[in-house]
Amino acid sequence: MAENQNNNDNNENIENKDVKSNDYEDICYICRRPESVAGKMIHIQNDICICQDCMQKTFDAMNSGGFNMGDFMNMNIGKMPNISMINLSDLQGAVPKSQKLKKKKPKEKKEAPVLDIYSIPAPHKIKASLDEYVVGQEHAKKVMSVAVYNHYKRVMENTDDGVEIEKSNMLMIGPTGCGKTYLVKTLAKLLDVPLAITDATSLTEAGYIGDDIESVVSKLLAAADNDVERAEHGIIFIDEIDKIAKKRNANQRDVSGESVQQGMLKLLEGAEIEVPVGASSKNAMVPMTTVDTKNILFICGGAFPELEEIIKERLNKEASIGFKADLKDKYDKDENLLTQATVEDVRKFGMIPEFLGRLPIMFSLEMLSEDMLVQILTEPKNAIIRQYKKLLAMDEVDLEFEEGALHAIAKKAKEKKVGARALRAIIEEFMLDIMYEIPKDDNIGKVTITEDYVEKKGGPLIQMRGVAEIPERAGAM
Ligand code: ADP
Repeated sequence: MAENQNNNDNNENIENKDVKSNDYEDICYICRRPESVAGKMIHIQNDICICQDCMQKTFDAMNSGGFNMGDFMNMNIGKMPNISMINLSDLQGAVPKSQKLKKKKPKEKKEAPVLDIYSIPAPHKIKASLDEYVVGQEHAKKVMSVAVYNHYKRVMENTDDGVEIEKSNMLMIGPTGCGKTYLVKTLAKLLDVPLAITDATSLTEAGYIGDDIESVVSKLLAAADNDVERAEHGIIFIDEIDKIAKKRNANQRDVSGESVQQGMLKLLEGAEIEVPVGASSKNAMVPMTTVDTKNILFICGGAFPELEEIIKERLNKEASIGFKADLKDKYDKDENLLTQATVEDVRKFGMIPEFLGRLPIMFSLEMLSEDMLVQILTEPKNAIIRQYKKLLAMDEVDLEFEEGALHAIAKKAKEKKVGARALRAIIEEFMLDIMYEIPKDDNIGKVTITEDYVEKKGGPLIQMRGVAEIPERAGAM
């Protein structure tokens, strides 16, 4: 009886093995490429496979070395004398048990992009899509939607009537963590265009240590899977642009500031750039290709920390003319002073006029208020709290947050002054215990995060499965 059982098990194993072996592919012993890349393999002994290219190369090498092909054909390949390319008898013992690689799953069919750049939707539709992800920042979303709409209209236009539409490169000003990068990322995702994000502080003029300015284009090419045409319709986001402001009172040559701005002029306007394919730096071994930046949308962003002082000074000066001279501290408490920035203010900050001229669309983002932070926690499609709810729902546990708890989290985040970035860290801190303890007990049906729990004055409310319904039923009776 037991023997029968064993036999059955063995048969099952063999069947499973057969099914599973379809999931694996052979690898060439010489060039290590899998069958899906190198083509059909030639099987030699001991599970060794060689691709046709390598086999051909081996024959060629033998022929050129005066090796007689006729002799070769008559030989037992395993016992061949010192063949310099592959000595199969040497391979015995050195061959690992399996030379197979699990096949990759075929890539899922790509979905159509939400917004199609080839039939670009009207600005209000672009904004509506952004609204699903980005909270607040109404002005910024509106300006960006119009700019993107015009940009892709310009890209797709090919009439030659002498009217050339200017590029819609943008300059975003906004405090840290208010959603600058997030807006650009969301936009690129919705439009399904490649996006390269780089930090202005890492850029230096060509020849100095650091990434040269053109490296941003090779990043974009990599993001477009080396498809030049796709890259030429992409977006490049240069963050921390305020860090390359002209240094005031600088005596030496300014490698990181003004000259980087100068170096970027050509790129922003449109130039043919030689970039290495599949590498970040140029060298003799890497093939090169040319990417035209004429239709690449450049978005620069920065927090411009001392810009507020410049704006305040200007506003105070304007106010002191006339009757408003007594309002000198009027702007001191204004969180959103940056929204009043003008090109002149930014020029005073240290951006050179030629550079600003190539970023014709300038706009500011607001500092996130406590209410906006609460919205960020709950409303966007992939809001943090939705993510946690989904995780616990997999364990069949309901997760709820009291209104007070949400505000307590937002208040804590606001104190950290890094915008929405603080939210995740704060939540993770107290959710760790919940995520650790709850799956231990299958009877728990619902967890409610209270304000006291967030403020470390109490615990969360835990309800057992089935118990929660009893009071309700009792009420209904
Ligand atoms: P920065 O303005 O410094 O570039 P980010 O865009 O990187 O800030 O924001 C950090 C994170 O905060 C984002 O990944 C996003 O999850 C969240 N966030 C920031 N602002 C918003 C917003 N307005 N709406 C929704 N999420 C936001």
